[in-house]
Amino acid sequence: MLAHNHSAKEVIEDLKSDEKKGLDSAQVKERLDRDGLNKLKESAKKTNFAKFLDQFKDVMILILLLAAVVSFIVAIMEQHLSGFFEPLLILLIVVLNAVVGVYQENKAEKSLEALMNMTTPQSRVIRDGKEEIIDTQNLVVGDIIRLEAGDFIPADARLISANALKSDESALTGESVPSDKNASVIIEEKEALGDRINMVYSGCTITNGTAVAVVSATGMNTEMGKIANLLDSAIDTKTPLQERLAVLGKYLGIAALIICVVIFVMGIVDGMPIMEIFMTAVSLAVSAIPEGLPVIVTVVLSIGVERMARQNAIVKKLPAVETLGSTSIICSDKTGTLTQNKMTLVKAYYEGAESEAISDHNSDDIKQLLTYAILCSDGSILVEDGKEVSVGDPTETSIVSAGMKNGIFKDEINKEYPRLFELPFDSDRKMMSVINEINGKKIVITKGAFDVMEGRCKGDLKKAEQVVEDMSKEALRVIAVAYKEIDTIPDDIDSDMLENDLTLLGLVGMIDPPREEAKEAIRVCKKAGIKPIMITGDHVVTAEVIARQLGIFNEGDRAITGLELSAMSEEELDQQLEHISVYARVSPEDKIRIVRAWQKKDKIVSMTGDGVNDAPSLKAADIGCAMGITGTDVAKSAADLTLMDDNFATIVEAVKEGRGIYSNIRRVVGFLLGTNIGEIALVFFSMLFWKVSPLLSMQLLWINLVTDSMPAIALGTEAIDGDVMNEKPRPKKEGIFAHGLGVQVVLQGIMFGGLSLIAFHFGYEHGGLTTARTMAFIVLGLSQVHHAFNMRSNKSLFKIGVFTNKTLNKAVALSAGLMLLVIFVPPITEIFGLTQLPIDLYAFSWFLSFVPIIVLEIVKALKLVK
Ligand code: ATP
Repeated sequence: MLAHNHSAKEVIEDLKSDEKKGLDSAQVKERLDRDGLNKLKESAKKTNFAKFLDQFKDVMILILLLAAVVSFIVAIMEQHLSGFFEPLLILLIVVLNAVVGVYQENKAEKSLEALMNMTTPQSRVIRDGKEEIIDTQNLVVGDIIRLEAGDFIPADARLISANALKSDESALTGESVPSDKNASVIIEEKEALGDRINMVYSGCTITNGTAVAVVSATGMNTEMGKIANLLDSAIDTKTPLQERLAVLGKYLGIAALIICVVIFVMGIVDGMPIMEIFMTAVSLAVSAIPEGLPVIVTVVLSIGVERMARQNAIVKKLPAVETLGSTSIICSDKTGTLTQNKMTLVKAYYEGAESEAISDHNSDDIKQLLTYAILCSDGSILVEDGKEVSVGDPTETSIVSAGMKNGIFKDEINKEYPRLFELPFDSDRKMMSVINEINGKKIVITKGAFDVMEGRCKGDLKKAEQVVEDMSKEALRVIAVAYKEIDTIPDDIDSDMLENDLTLLGLVGMIDPPREEAKEAIRVCKKAGIKPIMITGDHVVTAEVIARQLGIFNEGDRAITGLELSAMSEEELDQQLEHISVYARVSPEDKIRIVRAWQKKDKIVSMTGDGVNDAPSLKAADIGCAMGITGTDVAKSAADLTLMDDNFATIVEAVKEGRGIYSNIRRVVGFLLGTNIGEIALVFFSMLFWKVSPLLSMQLLWINLVTDSMPAIALGTEAIDGDVMNEKPRPKKEGIFAHGLGVQVVLQGIMFGGLSLIAFHFGYEHGGLTTARTMAFIVLGLSQVHHAFNMRSNKSLFKIGVFTNKTLNKAVALSAGLMLLVIFVPPITEIFGLTQLPIDLYAFSWFLSFVPIIVLEIVKALKLVK
């Protein structure tokens, strides 16, 4: 049956569902088994084997393998048993390297997938007579769903009822203007998708109104499923830093390659065995070309992303992690983010009378005011196990609760004065209206922000204005309640018609205390050179009072309204921008203007939002933060970050993590490049001075695998230094080698090279080439292991605690263990072309490998590194 071509009732019957009770669990199970999950098919994932093969796409690895094959053939020809070890070991090391590569890739992928799962969309359905929230993928045909503004439509569905419903169907039809929906019409069979106004379609969004609908198609059977071949689930993981590093890696790679060619030519000129020098040059290229940098950065980023998730900040786009660290402006909503969103009604004013504190025996006037306000509210208070549980908008539940104190119960008055129509609340209008039948008359009740309602009410409102001012100064949110009588309910109702010519009934004032943790977070922000700004839909005076309590608003600052902002020219705004810390009664367009104004001053702006209309400003901001609890699907999908607890402090935590992750990436990059330069320096200079290659190919590859890659990843897990929030935000364009990291890397590389050269020279003098190689191997390998500890912090190791990074301890123990195995276990030593040393040479080598720790401790004490 074509759902758009029949009435909702027929569709529900055909699908054996029930408008009020929905499906029962047996039906759901049967349909899930029959139709499968409600999701689009994902493109096939790469298998581990495919990933493994991908690791061999690197040209240098292929050359190395080719070289191994050649050396294998030479060994066969020469019939020399030990000749087989080298190619076999190279093969083994290359395979191990590839395994580590696959491991890293999987780790990054898994944590990103886990994040995707944390943000799986959910839907509100009625099943077994009860309203439930379920994962969207478990929806089945026949389910009765509820939709409201900001929701993603979870499946194709026939509307049963719709209130001022509009849907943005651009994803499906390309039409960018949201289309009006109507549940009661029946559409011709052949009508195009865009004209089927009694249907809503999966993948589109609700931009306005509310609706109840019955699901008519799920998964690949939806219209979206028919046109979308396969859903590409891969997250875009390329961050600007990764791109920059990939470019850097390429340049350094070319440089390393040139050096390798030079080394090769030098070797040939000096008459060294071609095979040996060729193998060394290729192995050096494989070890020293930093082609793995972007992958390691992904791993470090994804470790950070996991850590942020544990603190309730879900990152949706990897580049956001990087940008977070540079955040210099945080624009935050007030209600729920900076305040607790636990509203309590404390005062009420009946037009013309005196304000009253809310108690359990308010005057009859106030009781009437509360009754009207409750009739115009959707929030309710349920009593479960003797406890009161608020369901819905806290602004409304606070009104319902004040009514209960005075013996007015929502269920009872709703029965007595039934609701005939509603125009839902939205942050643009800042009002909500209903039509109820009261004592046989049709009464429109509107509640909303006083300043918007003022122009829509009749009579002199001077006294009410004063009351609003007074309540606002006490940090109260003030809601006005007004009404009018109408004769008939028109067919086409809109706000201008309904919400005009009203009579003000009174005002209610509610308190919403600031969040305790927000105060501390704002203090941290300021110390970290970040300016917090409050942007709210609330009244300017209320907003300013709360901003003062929180420390956002300081003496000399300004609090302005959206109207005042609109009246400002670009130049005026540019001039005033630094001084405005509160924007009240703003519209979504105002938010974009504020973001752009700060961005013009080269600031990185983070902006919070929850509604449908916030999506553009979330996108415009450098970091869009959506609310996890109160946020709409649309806002979440536009944002870079979702705050699972809607809390301002979480943004500040995320910024801290962002800064920490960036400094960890710097550490990892510094460590890897430093060690690579060390390897190149050792080989180059020993070829120059001794005319021999200081390390055999497998020795070089082993060091690269065991002492480079493993500690590098572990460094990425380093705990965040508390000091990161004592510094100013990192400028957007600052390169990764800023603050002397570049120089540091080169000097450290020279130090590794120098120390290994000393070892090589000493070994040569005391025992010949194999002894020299063994000593150089020990010093180069172990000094890198030791150096991993140096790179943990710019503070002394003894200050931060030598063994406080447990992951690094394990990685280093493994690296050192594998190194010791090769150094001390005789058969393995031999296979690697090394030899056993007298105890004093071991001791000397170990001492040399320890030197980086001593040097770096001195450098740190002299504060030469930043
Ligand atoms: P923020 O933007 O900081 O979250 P806010 O909650 O005040 O602040 P909105 O939700 O856009 O922002 O509300 C704007 C104004 O609309 C409120 O100040 C209040 O006057 C009015 N308002 C809020 N909720 C309702 C409601 N349920 N019914 C009627 N009016 C409301």
